[in-house]
Amino acid sequence: MHDFEGQTVIVTGGTRGIGKAIAESFLQAGARVIVTYSTNEAATAQFRQDNSQFAQNIDIQKLDVSKYEDVEGFFRYIDTKYGSFEVLVNNAGIRKDSVLAMMKESDWHDVLNVNLTGIFYMCKFAVRNLMRKRYGRIVNISSVMERYAFEGQANYAAAKAGLSALTKSLAKEVATRGITVNCVSPGFIATELIRDLPDKLRDTYLDRIPMKRFGNTEEVAACVLFLASKEASYVTGSILEVSGGL
Ligand code: NAD
Repeated sequence: MHDFEGQTVIVTGGTRGIGKAIAESFLQAGARVIVTYSTNEAATAQFRQDNSQFAQNIDIQKLDVSKYEDVEGFFRYIDTKYGSFEVLVNNAGIRKDSVLAMMKESDWHDVLNVNLTGIFYMCKFAVRNLMRKRYGRIVNISSVMERYAFEGQANYAAAKAGLSALTKSLAKEVATRGITVNCVSPGFIATELIRDLPDKLRDTYLDRIPMKRFGNTEEVAACVLFLASKEASYVTGSILEVSGGL
C-alpha cells in the first residue's frame, strides 16, 4: 500500500463506481480527498455514510467538469481553502452509445464535453497550481475503447483516444516540473456505467476477455494509486491498461 499521508487528492466523479473505489483507496492510504460529483445526491449521501470513519479527511464538492466557469471556480476554492494539492484523478465520464448514423448531435457533444473537454479544463487549472510547488500527479481515466473503438461508441472512443493524446502531450510539457501525467485505461468494469448492456452483448464481451470476467473497481483503483504515488516518479505519458488481457 502506498502512503498518501499529508497529501491532498482530487477525484472527479468520485462518489460512485470506479471513482468511489479510487477515493476510498486514497482515504485508506491516509490522504485528504476532495471528491466531486455532478448530480447524484443519493450516491453522495451513500459515500459519506460508507466512509464516516474518514469524515475529517473528506470534502465533497458539486462540480460539472464540462462547464469552464465551474471548473475555474472549483480551483479558486481549492486555492483559497487548501493552497495546493498533490494529486488530480480525472475520473468523471459518461457514455451515450448509438451507431454513428443515428447518433444525436447532442449525444456527440455531451460525451466529448465531459470526457475530453472537461479534462482539458481540469488539467489547465490544476497544472497552474501544481507548477508552483514543482510536484504533482495527474491520472486520467481513459478506456480500452481508445484503442478498440467498438461499434456504437464513436463519440466515447473518440473522446478517450483524444484523452490519451492530451495526456501524452501534457506529460511532455510538464516533465521537467516534477509533474507526471498518465492514463489508467480500464476494460470492462462492473459499475452502473455498463449495467444497461443487453445480456447478449454482455456475453459477447465476456467471451472476448482472456480472463473471462469483468474487472472490479478496486483493481482499477490499485493502478491509479501506483501512478499517483511518489514511487512512480519516472512514469509519465503512459497508458496502463486494466482489462483482463483484452
Ligand atoms: P459511473 O457512471 O458509475 O461514474 C461516473 C461518474 O462521473 C459519476 O460519479 C458521475 O457523477 C460523474 N460525472 C458524470 N458527468 C459528469 C460531469 N459533467 N461533471 C462531473 N462529474 C460527472 O461510471 P464508472 O464506470 O465508474 O466510470 C468512471 C470512469 O471510468 C469514466 O471515465 C469511464 O469512462 C471510465 N471507464 C469505465 C469502464 C467501465 O466498464 N465501467 C470502462 C472503461 C473506462
